[in-house]
Amino acid sequence: MDYVGRHAFMPSFRWRELGVHWHAYRERGSVRNPAVPSIDRVRRLDTAPLAALYTPDEVAEWIEAQTRDLGERRTVRAIAEREWVEIGDTDDLNHLYSENVLIAARGDSIYTDIYSESENIQLFLEVVSAHECPGH
Ligand SMILES: [Zn+2]
Repeated sequence: MDYVGRHAFMPSFRWRELGVHWHAYRERGSVRNPAVPSIDRVRRLDTAPLAALYTPDEVAEWIEAQTRDLGERRTVRAIAEREWVEIGDTDDLNHLYSENVLIAARGDSIYTDIYSESENIQLFLEVVSAHECPGH
């Protein structure tokens, strides 16, 4: 999907000016034992990411794919609004997708939680500069 394909609004191009990409990480835990962000950004970046993502759309698509793969109704905290959003239908997913594109387009990292009755999953999309990661 191209950069302007799915959204009618115009995201920032700051991410391009900054020359950034994103490293994607996922931590799973239970509700009783949440996957707390036990390691900080620097230590996380020392580990191999699940994926390297190069555009805000790739970031949003990766988060959406993670969310869809869970296969049941979930609650997601959108970090930009600090609110919990029950997800499960296409409108919800499109809303989250757009929010995530806007955040990433500013050149920011995205941390988000996905909860169900039994499981807590945290997604970390760490923005990295070409200086921090010349390898991608
Ligand atoms: Zn990288």
